Amino acid sequence: MPAMYEILIAPGGGGLFAGTRGNYYELADGQQIDVQTTPVWCRRCGDWRHGESIEPVAEIDRKLAELDDPNSFAYQSCFDNLFHEMFGKGEEFRQEQITRLRRRRRWREDRVSPPKCIECGSADIVVLPINEKVPNPAGPGTVEIRIRGMCSTDFNEWHFTPEGERIPRDTKPTHWHHPAMGDEFNKPGGAVEWLRRTGRLKEPGGESSGE
Ligand SMILES: [Zn+2]
Repeated sequence: MPAMYEILIAPGGGGLFAGTRGNYYELADGQQIDVQTTPVWCRRCGDWRHGESIEPVAEIDRKLAELDDPNSFAYQSCFDNLFHEMFGKGEEFRQEQITRLRRRRRWREDRVSPPKCIECGSADIVVLPINEKVPNPAGPGTVEIRIRGMCSTDFNEWHFTPEGERIPRDTKPTHWHHPAMGDEFNKPGGAVEWLRRTGRLKEPGGESSGE
């Protein structure tokens, strides 16, 4: 779940800034990894935005080493939870995390470009530290970013090349039905009927009826 940030500008105020999720890099082999983000000031957007957070390879290696160390918090938290107590899936969970980190490591090793604003793709961004008062890039005074908790936001379903270039797509695959379909999806046969009626269903041997 993404973080809920607070942007504190002095003097002047500030406001809450919800984190983002559902942003993915698409690797050459078709696998996806999460885009990690942090609040930034984007000079091109002229606004607070989400920027890519790109950690050093050493940071990923540190996390991998922790998952191999039975004394570490990361290792223990795989097994010290209800999920493991009920289903015995702790080891599976640990392996999944290792696989994910190794994939991220491969992406990180190849990544050349500096972090970008995920909204506009510009690298002309100011990455703000967390819990530290710094000169305000947006105007006079200072700014401090704090984490206020977590928030439940929609999944963007934005896709990026490994270098952080947005791949244009107009679909939102997390919608489990077409956004225009509404309640009809829930009626028996409703989805197929709706697709047929609106000309979205291409049936073998037949022409779609069109809208
Ligand atoms: Zn931007």
